[in-house]
Amino acid sequence: MEPHGRDFIRRIIDEDIQAHRHEGKVVTRFPPEPNGFLHIGHAKSICLNFGIAEEYGGVCHLRFDDTDPTKEDVVYEASIQEDVRWLGFDWKGNLFHASDYFDQMYELACKLIEDKKAYVCGLSEEEIRQTRGTVTTPGSISPFAAKPVEEHLDLFRRMKAGEFSDGTYVLRARIDMAAANMKMRDPLLYRIRHAHHYRTKDKWCLYPMYDYAHPLSDAIEGITHSICTLEFENNRELYDWVVNHVRGHFKYKPHQYEFARLDLQSTVMSKRKLLQLVEKKIVSGWDDPRLPTLAGLRRRGCTPDAVRKFCELVGISKANSSVEMSQFEFCLRDDLNAKAPRVMAVLRPLKVIIDNYPADQVEMLDASYWPHDIPKTGSRDVPFTKELYIEKDDFMEHPPKDFYRLAPGKEVRLRYGYCITCTRIDKDEATGEILAVHCTYDPDTKSGSAPMGRKVKGTIHWVSSHSFTAEVRLYDRLLLESEGEEETDFLARINPRSLEVLAECRLEPSLKTAISSERFQFERQGYFFVDPVDFHAGKLAFNRIVTLKDTWAKKHR
Ligand code: ATP
Ligand code: MG
Repeated sequence: MEPHGRDFIRRIIDEDIQAHRHEGKVVTRFPPEPNGFLHIGHAKSICLNFGIAEEYGGVCHLRFDDTDPTKEDVVYEASIQEDVRWLGFDWKGNLFHASDYFDQMYELACKLIEDKKAYVCGLSEEEIRQTRGTVTTPGSISPFAAKPVEEHLDLFRRMKAGEFSDGTYVLRARIDMAAANMKMRDPLLYRIRHAHHYRTKDKWCLYPMYDYAHPLSDAIEGITHSICTLEFENNRELYDWVVNHVRGHFKYKPHQYEFARLDLQSTVMSKRKLLQLVEKKIVSGWDDPRLPTLAGLRRRGCTPDAVRKFCELVGISKANSSVEMSQFEFCLRDDLNAKAPRVMAVLRPLKVIIDNYPADQVEMLDASYWPHDIPKTGSRDVPFTKELYIEKDDFMEHPPKDFYRLAPGKEVRLRYGYCITCTRIDKDEATGEILAVHCTYDPDTKSGSAPMGRKVKGTIHWVSSHSFTAEVRLYDRLLLESEGEEETDFLARINPRSLEVLAECRLEPSLKTAISSERFQFERQGYFFVDPVDFHAGKLAFNRIVTLKDTWAKKHR
């Protein structure tokens, strides 16, 4: 396959370039509303719009669609810019706001009124809804539509001057109250909102609707290909209507194309729902590592490369479908495999005492950071001591037949170290809890020394008494499977075990010098990330990015 295959949007652009439309230029835009943090669905749109600009030697504008002053905020703008940069894209100075064009949009609206293409309507929101008709019956024409142009112009000016309260009047396009497409039944272009806007302050008390502001912003900026998600398919006719009625003023005529949005399973993919989780404090913030926000993925330790590969893998199509989380996890592992050095950490420690190993002896074992199939070199010293730690679940007192890890009388290999055999167990008399496992080691089985003694079926990871304690967080799916009905309230589906904090993990000493945002593979446990926020607060804590594919664990069970 070519780097991006040739999806239908790229094929359209190829044709446009061949036909020398827009003088062969390609200008796209990513138009977020600054009312929340971006999520991985937005990444798909970012990769598409910025990716196309890169491939065709064009530009992609970052444009904030700030037409609803009641929901928008600069905080979100800053996070959106950070996210786009994190993904590795650049708007090359083309940072715009719909509000940059409010004056121009107002002037063009006055022209539409003069051309009898728009009118001020004094029906209430409810009356407008009632007179719209239905899919099978036409709507009725507003009694305001017949008034003379001068009156509409006057009312529109007074709307701007702040003479009317919210909801008194709206500006509507004069199209067709019997149109098959309901969006074409004299849609709203402007509404009154006495609200403070974070950029234009109190200059405006009327704000353009998306369907008017968006095509105009595209036309003003000279956007050639305006790419959005499928739910805007029905808006395209209105998009074209707006563009056609102002086209005399602009060089190029932009076109809207729709593609299928990304829908990732087992998580929440809408800013409205994400905001609820944040506000209800179900998560710790927009950057909670369990969220599919780009800030959350970044905090968890996901790489921008993996996100981009995922978006590429999912591809661009016209058919909506949902994608399993495991596909994203596949991309993470695939990317981290060659990037994250291997180290050992024990998440749920169980003490092992090697009775025949000298108490004061410390052997430094040379342990490679990389497996053989990764063309990288480097190793660190791993101390081996009389007392060490293994995972609790790598030991079973009464194991089933196919358990190839440690059990009474059974032998197992300690990775990079020796083979040990369990001889007895220290138990808490009262609770039955296993406090420590006693073993003997065979000095002739040292790893790396030919012929390494005999073959044993299982190899497990471990850390020595020189290890240190740190916090590790494990994440699971944010949402549980919905039971039957699709429409179950998502809050009822929150997985109560989506976060597990392990405060007593033991890490090999080399990790003491780990720095903010470093990534490692903890052997058999997954890929982990040094939490940057905690690191800067003086605490070393690791977030699990993703578990490992089971192959290593299975092979060495
Ligand atoms: P949400 O529905 O998640 O709250 P939104 O569509 O309201 O998001 P916008 O800020 O309007 O968010 O989106 C900016 C751009 O990102 C739009 O062009 C939109 O089509 C695109 N986009 C949003 N969600 C997705 C998605 N899940 N997959 C692909 N593109 C998306
Ligand atoms: Mg939107």
